Amino acid sequence: MSPRLDKLLANLGYGSRREIQSLVRAGRVRLGETRLTDPAQKIAPDACSELRIDGEPLDPLPGLVIMLNKPLGMTCSHKDEGPLVHDLLPERWRRRDPMISSVGRLDKETTGLLLLTDDGAFLHKIIAPKTHVPKRYHAELARPLRGDEAALFAAGTLILQGETEPLSPGLLEVATPTRAALTITEGRYHQVRRMFAALGNHVLALHRDRLGGLTLPDDLAPGHYRVLDKAAIEIVL
Ligand code: URA
Repeated sequence: MSPRLDKLLANLGYGSRREIQSLVRAGRVRLGETRLTDPAQKIAPDACSELRIDGEPLDPLPGLVIMLNKPLGMTCSHKDEGPLVHDLLPERWRRRDPMISSVGRLDKETTGLLLLTDDGAFLHKIIAPKTHVPKRYHAELARPLRGDEAALFAAGTLILQGETEPLSPGLLEVATPTRAALTITEGRYHQVRRMFAALGNHVLALHRDRLGGLTLPDDLAPGHYRVLDKAAIEIVL
C-alpha cells in the first residue's frame, strides 16, 4: 500500500499533518532529484529510499527493530520512575506511530541486550510464554555458589516465592564462585534475581548478553543502539 506523503512523514514523527504540509510547500522534500510539491502525493514503499528531507534520507520505515545496550539506571516502561531507555533514541523516533516499545523488560538495575520495536506482531511473538526464546544473563553474586544451583535450576522443579507453577529448566554456567551465566526461556517478574534468592543468594549485578540467536556485540557501548537488518531480526527466533 502506498501512503500519502504527509501521512507517511507524520507517522514517522516529522510533525503534524499541517507541519508536514508546510515542509512540503517550502520545497524541503525531494524524491530523487524532484522537489515534491503535493503533500497528498502517494509514495510507493520502494520509492521511500529516494526520499530526502532537507537533503537527509528518511528515518527507518515501520517494522523497525532496534538492539540497545541498556545502561544501568534506566527503565523500560513509561509507568516506572526514572530516565527511560526511549530517551536514548532520536527525539523524532519518540513521536512515531506506531510507537516504539521495548520487547519485554529489563529491570532498572539490569544492563545489556534489549530490543525495541514498533512491530507489534514481532514483539508479541518474542514475549509470548509459549515461544521460549532463550535469554542469557551474567550474574554477579553476593555469596559464593553452594554447588547445587546448576542441578536445581536444570531440574525444572523450582517454584518461586508467591508462585505455584514450577520454572522451566534453566542452564547455569559457573565462571567463578560468585559469577555465573544463567540461560532461561521464560520472562517472569525479576526472574533471575528471584531464582538466586530462592537458593539463599543475592544478585549484585545482572547483565543480559544473549536473546535468541542474537549476541550483544562488544563494540556496542552502553547507551548505544543499532537498527537491525532483516537477517539479524530473523535470527532472534
Ligand atoms: N531477571 C531479572 O531478575 N531481572 C531482569 O532484568 C531480567 C531477568
